[in-house]
Amino acid sequence: MALEVILIDWARDPLQKLYAAYRTCYSPKTPGEVWGEIQDGSISPEKIRGFIAERLKTGHASPLEQVVFWFGISGVSRSLSHQFVRHRIGISFEQQSQRYVKFKEDRLEYVRPKTWEKAGLADEYDRLMAEVTRVYFRALEKGIPAEDARFVLPNAAPTNFQVMVNFTEMLHIADLRLCWRAQWEIRHMVALMRRELVRAVPELGGQLQPKCGDRRMGYCDEPLDEWKRCPIGKVRPHKEQLFEILEQHRHGSAVPLTEKDIREVEDAGNEG
Ligand SMILES: Cc1cc2nc3c(=O)[nH]c(=O)nc-3n(C[C@H](O)[C@H](O)[C@H](O)COP(=O)(O)OP(=O)(O)OC[C@H]3O[C@@H](n4cnc5c(N)ncnc54)[C@H](O)[C@@H]3O)c2cc1C
Repeated sequence: MALEVILIDWARDPLQKLYAAYRTCYSPKTPGEVWGEIQDGSISPEKIRGFIAERLKTGHASPLEQVVFWFGISGVSRSLSHQFVRHRIGISFEQQSQRYVKFKEDRLEYVRPKTWEKAGLADEYDRLMAEVTRVYFRALEKGIPAEDARFVLPNAAPTNFQVMVNFTEMLHIADLRLCWRAQWEIRHMVALMRRELVRAVPELGGQLQPKCGDRRMGYCDEPLDEWKRCPIGKVRPHKEQLFEILEQHRHGSAVPLTEKDIREVEDAGNEG
């Protein structure tokens, strides 16, 4: 069962909308005047992009709520969907129903994590799914309504979404779900959402990072042991390191680099 993410659409002219939202805050001009300048071309697309890039570095985030995207997502498990629908602000979900939609094929499509195969348990997993499928179809044949037959369906059962999400919430979802600590399936789905956005609106899509990213919080606030195991932990600082550096500064032991330090770096690996 393949996970698929498509970007269905986005609210027209997201960069112009963002530009005008920010300009309305910072300029004596009315929104009508700002939009007039956008539409008659006196504000160039380059200027709009540059202005937004600077604003995105600040904490003034509410204008980002005025940019909206629609995604179609299919082939994800109910295990993923339980996690996804916990996001509650700035996002709207429509999810395939197990009351109105019966699984019609003689085999239930399902998601199988790779770990089952690695553990040599793929056959047992498949046999269990086949048995669940058999009991589910038997229940339907016996006239049990789909809303009750579904009680035997597992977390592995597939589901589909159409989702509307604003950019502020998309950034927040990426903060949490692109993090190494997020579960693999939702991490994969959010990575595909990011890929779609990068393709469609690179100026905005490129802002989506895990929370430790240089465009987000910038450091890891997860437990130290998890940071040590994280594949990108090497290139992101942990919050405890930041406290240590702060302490060193306070005690005057965080001293500037000297010429001697620089020479040591120059010579490292070149001693022979
Ligand atoms: C790695 C990981 C492990 C998790 N483990 C568990 C678990 O074991 N058990 C479990 O139940 N859940 C778990 N969750 C889910 C988690 O607790 C959240 O429910 C989920 O991530 C949704 O995020 P959010 O609360 O930021 O909601 P969002 O809707 O995405 O929040 C958007 C923003 O609005 C703020 N906000 C939303 N509502 C309010 C409010 N009422 N008042 C003030 N601010 C608000 C949020 O703080 C956030 O900044 C886990 C999530 C992750 C990423």
